[in-house]
Amino acid sequence: MSGSSQEVESSAADRARGSGSEAQPIGTPVSSGGSARAGPSREILCPVCSSDGCTLLYPDTLGPDVPRLDYDFGADHGRTYRIMKCGRCTHRFAIPTRRDLWKEYEGVEDPAYMARTEERAATFRKLVKRIHRFCPGGRLLDVGCATGDFLDSAQAFFDVEGVELSKWSSQIATERGFRVHRSRLPAVSKDSAYDVITLWGVIGLFEHPHEEAAAMARLVKPGGLVCVWTGDMASLPARILGRKYWYVMGQYLQLYTATSLCRMFEMHGFERAWMGTYPFTSSLRLLTNSLGRYPVVGGVTKALVHRTFLSRVFITLLLPGEMFAIFRKKG
Ligand SMILES: [Zn+2]
Repeated sequence: MSGSSQEVESSAADRARGSGSEAQPIGTPVSSGGSARAGPSREILCPVCSSDGCTLLYPDTLGPDVPRLDYDFGADHGRTYRIMKCGRCTHRFAIPTRRDLWKEYEGVEDPAYMARTEERAATFRKLVKRIHRFCPGGRLLDVGCATGDFLDSAQAFFDVEGVELSKWSSQIATERGFRVHRSRLPAVSKDSAYDVITLWGVIGLFEHPHEEAAAMARLVKPGGLVCVWTGDMASLPARILGRKYWYVMGQYLQLYTATSLCRMFEMHGFERAWMGTYPFTSSLRLLTNSLGRYPVVGGVTKALVHRTFLSRVFITLLLPGEMFAIFRKKG
């Protein structure tokens, strides 16, 4: 990534086409320090459809801090950059943000993530079965593979590889025997190599979503799949909870709706193959931990569940707004 000291005025159309430009979106302040945030922007364009009809949804509550990037959920996770809403494609997005936030992931160590291995495996087995219905086998690339739990489940049907920035996570995945690219997705150079690319809770983290989607279009074979899990800002929970919706976290720079998610992939030559609900499977013990950012509810449920037989009960939640989408590359 470049470290330009000027505010960049790249063509909105270039970005919409996924030109691979390293430029910041128009209106994103670019500091000479390369990481600090700067003052108000001149113009703000939607990072999905490039519309200039964006309005303030939530003010900045993060200040100059780096957002929480781990899974040890607490009230701090709800502190965000300023969130804007696009009036055309309904996308929500954080702006301005810390430049090159992705570099912060390289140093992330997250022991709390390890506590959820069993739950993730139960969820991932369901995901793999669903994907297998659309693609019987071949090469699969999991973006943000963390410690390799999905790769472990997916290798039942696929030859698997991962992409992971965290040194700590990628080392664990490598020690488990998986091939891991420790880079951003656009740096992976195997054109048309993959039958399936998966992103579980990752697509909202990207600073430049079109750049990443263009990389997916390049890496996946014609007829291949991109499978995505993320939240839906137009869903009932999002509308009821507002900025307390669990996807409104500092680390999520892109907050999709089904409309904006589909629009972005269609712009890169994909079509929607299937849209459903993510089969989030968890023990009640970890479910109550996830409620940690809601102090009252989290405290009460924790008291009820922990230290009782309930902590070992597993349930699958099909929550409205937990989008699980499969896109197929045309051609
Ligand atoms: Zn838009």
